[in-house]
Amino acid sequence: MPAYDDSNIFARILRGEIPSDTVLETEHTLVFRDIRPQAPVHVLVIPKGAYVSYDDFAANAPEAEIVDFHRALAQATRDLGVALDGGQGFRAITNAGEHGVQEVPHFHMHILGGRDMGRMVQPG
Ligand code: 5GP
Repeated sequence: MPAYDDSNIFARILRGEIPSDTVLETEHTLVFRDIRPQAPVHVLVIPKGAYVSYDDFAANAPEAEIVDFHRALAQATRDLGVALDGGQGFRAITNAGEHGVQEVPHFHMHILGGRDMGRMVQPG
């Protein structure tokens, strides 16, 4: 696992050094709008802890942080009107490392919705 670099942009958001458009905050998790939205709903769900990627988080985070992350994600989908409870659904994506084309090395889950999101990946 690469070392966590705390100069990444999401670490700076968590430290309050740069602003973000917060949708939901819990004890261990922050949900905020992506600065370059790819869909009418595009938010990022991040743990407050220092994890590089989903596999780092899933392997190493305390259970309370993992549960809080997923419960916050579910709450955000309801708050944003894309949950299956009354909404039309969403796509959750996490990119990891070079082949995953991860831009920001702090674990985050994209939640995209508000339109038909099309095929999951380009064939090839
Ligand atoms: P990745 O490619 O790492 O999965 O996605 C990183 C995401 O972070 C991109 O969708 C990008 O638009 C978003 N992003 C990058 N910098 C900022 C920022 O300063 N603020 C916010 N809200 N989103 C950012």
